[in-house]
Amino acid sequence: MTQPRTAALIVAAGQGARSGGDIPKQFRLLGGRPLLWHSWRALSAHPAIDAVSVVVADGQQAALHAALGDIPFAIGGATRRDSVRAGLASLHEQGFERALIHDAARPFVPAGVIDRLITALDRAPGAVPVLPVADTLARGDAALGETVDRHGLRRIQTPQAFHLPAIIAAHDAWPNGTEATDDAQVLSRAGGAVLLVEGDAMLEKITYPADFAAAEARLNAAMCARSAIGFDVHRLVEGEELWLGGVRIPHDKGLSGHSDADVALHAITDALLGTIAAGDIGTHFPPSDPQWRGADSAQFLDHAASLIAAKGGIIDFVDLTLICEAPKIGPHREAIRARIAALLRLPPDAISVKATTTERLGFTGRGEGIAAQAIATIRIPA
Ligand code: MG
Repeated sequence: MTQPRTAALIVAAGQGARSGGDIPKQFRLLGGRPLLWHSWRALSAHPAIDAVSVVVADGQQAALHAALGDIPFAIGGATRRDSVRAGLASLHEQGFERALIHDAARPFVPAGVIDRLITALDRAPGAVPVLPVADTLARGDAALGETVDRHGLRRIQTPQAFHLPAIIAAHDAWPNGTEATDDAQVLSRAGGAVLLVEGDAMLEKITYPADFAAAEARLNAAMCARSAIGFDVHRLVEGEELWLGGVRIPHDKGLSGHSDADVALHAITDALLGTIAAGDIGTHFPPSDPQWRGADSAQFLDHAASLIAAKGGIIDFVDLTLICEAPKIGPHREAIRARIAALLRLPPDAISVKATTTERLGFTGRGEGIAAQAIATIRIPA
């Protein structure tokens, strides 16, 4: 049985500045990355989620592009519900059957919560993560009013998971002029069952400046740095295209190999895999497997980056050295940096590209091949 096609929708159309600063909080930096980046990476890395789309407000397209590169997005409306509906409609048009709706203000999305939500969708059209209420609750403004019995009360988090046609129909049926605070109540009001699954304290929402500080401290305390190197060589031959760092370089020869033989992306992929001790590129993409013949090496890099993201890791820096007599790398350096940065969803200043010759010595000096070495530095939960 094939799995239903599942997408995640991150609602990031807010203009709010309650968290301090003058840029909307979904674009404020947390751990050196826009807040939105964290949940986007976690959702993108989950194997049961086929695509992640983001809803931003009109005018935020450039900020989104700077944060995540060229990714699918929808333009939201005046209210949160308008934004959600725009995003859901776009997912429906693309043929998705299930959707997880997530607020960008919750950066840390544990894979276990996603697992529980998706499993619950086999039994009901909706599911939400919840946590019990630990504090005593009371009404009152200046003076203490009646205490509220917290028995049976739950705090509701996101992502919230739905059968796409059911949540779209429920939003269509919701009365105009009233706002829903979340999507689960929209489905529930329309008569759809919403199952409760166990939430996670990591999913806490970031609202105030102190929340940013706490999240930053949590990231710093919980993460350790790791670095690993990668090395690769391919033979230069006539009649092949030359691809270096995901960029086609005009040259009278190209690199030969089973895939597109992009020696630079292979070295970086091995460095990234090394940071999580996940073997090497041949472990994941065996040269004996015909499906990788002529393959675009960008997918190898993306796979390694996804494995790191799935462990909650953050790639901080990649440094690449290309070793060849020809072609000259200098004229292509910035294009290669930009391409690698785009593939890894990193700012270009997180990528370094260097080149050297070997003074006409050895196989690189004789122009028989190109070598590449890379080092990657990441942070990962300790
Ligand atoms: Mg290789």
